[in-house]
Amino acid sequence: MVKCTICGVKEASYARLYSGEKLCTKCFIESIEYKVRTTIAKHKMFEFNDRIAVAVSGGKDSVSLLHILATRAEGLPRAS
Ligand SMILES: [Zn+2]
Repeated sequence: MVKCTICGVKEASYARLYSGEKLCTKCFIESIEYKVRTTIAKHKMFEFNDRIAVAVSGGKDSVSLLHILATRAEGLPRAS
């Protein structure tokens, strides 16, 4: 069993080729959410009271972005 590079406890289920990391499902999801939050903050993509539209193609990237924005992005505006 290959253990997760981050937590070192759970079995890795995803290999990130560009970094060599091997991640369990929980750490993979948390790493993606972290990347989304830091990218939004770094580029100052949103301001308070902004309305956000997400173009969803149905692929993993746009569906993941929509999910994170709708459920996990604390401090970001919610759809109304
Ligand atoms: Zn892990």
